Amino acid sequence: MELVKESIKNLKEYKTNKIDFKIKLDANEGKNILLQDIYKEGIKFNEDFNLNFYPDNDAYLLKQEIKKYLNVDTSNIIAGNGSSEMIELVIKTFVDKGEIILSPIPTFSMYSVFSQIYSAQFIGIQSNEDFKVDIDKLIEKSNELNPKVIFICNPNNPTGNLINKNDIKKLLENTNGLVVVDEAYMEFAEGSMVDEISNYENLIVLRTLSKALGLAGIRLGYMTANQKIIDVINKVKSPYNLNAISQYIGVKALKNKDKIFEYIEEVKNEREFLYKELNEMKIKAYKSYANFIFFKWDINNLYEKLIDYGILIRKFSDELEGYYRVSVGNKNENERFIKILKEIIENEKS
Ligand SMILES: *Cc1c(COP(=O)(O)O)cnc(C)c1O
Repeated sequence: MELVKESIKNLKEYKTNKIDFKIKLDANEGKNILLQDIYKEGIKFNEDFNLNFYPDNDAYLLKQEIKKYLNVDTSNIIAGNGSSEMIELVIKTFVDKGEIILSPIPTFSMYSVFSQIYSAQFIGIQSNEDFKVDIDKLIEKSNELNPKVIFICNPNNPTGNLINKNDIKKLLENTNGLVVVDEAYMEFAEGSMVDEISNYENLIVLRTLSKALGLAGIRLGYMTANQKIIDVINKVKSPYNLNAISQYIGVKALKNKDKIFEYIEEVKNEREFLYKELNEMKIKAYKSYANFIFFKWDINNLYEKLIDYGILIRKFSDELEGYYRVSVGNKNENERFIKILKEIIENEKS
């Protein structure tokens, strides 16, 4: 008997890099801006917070902090094990076998991976040559295909492109499906849809602590939507899905708005530095609204050449062969990256 279900037979495992590196610019992780304080203070266990009991299933204290951070009510929030869990929860809750999930492409791979796992049909709508999303084309396709869910990554990973708020509203008003806006990088841009959740019954916004808050290691993401959506998804969510230590650290971290905003400003400045330098080298770099830059390079094996210098970036294959994504690092890392690129260009010439 064939034991593995049909839908996942040709699924590939999510593999991560085990390469030796000095500078890690491949996964858009933020810097350690909050953890130093948390390390210093240590985790304080007491009667209310100990590890022999199951964690708070409602993550109440954490939602209180998210409420202050985003200005949304706690009843409009679900938190969990990274926004990856949130993406899966949306599909699990709303999409039946064979139903359509739509997304502009190229984009974050997990939308299509989870679509496949749940036997949904993922359809990608190709963006323009400069990777801008044509919202009218997306609406037209949505009317034609009637998707259950549309995923919009905004700003988009890997291109860094931003869709403006009015375009997203237009989409919301012209589709019968749910529109999930993944705002993993929205701290580095403007135009969040969070303040629109009460205006649309088909809007879900995803956020994470993995990027601007530099806490990818605790796996904490959340969604915000109107109460009706939240109530349904809560029925599907696994009990105690967010462990006590992540809840604890999340609470500590979200209290540091000042530090977070300071860091965001630093990333934006460094992003402009990288963008300018790449363009001056005549490398095609795309304007980015996130904490990374997407660029095209027509010399072979840039990825491998950078690894020889201890620098890890992200490379792409298939239709995106020759495209790369580099996270915005700190000043030293970015300067080193640019210096090495210049060296590689020189070596190519000789
Ligand atoms: C990094 C990233 C996330 C964050 O995922 P977590 O599971 O919260 O770490 C979500 N969406 C996109 C598009 C991302 O690039």
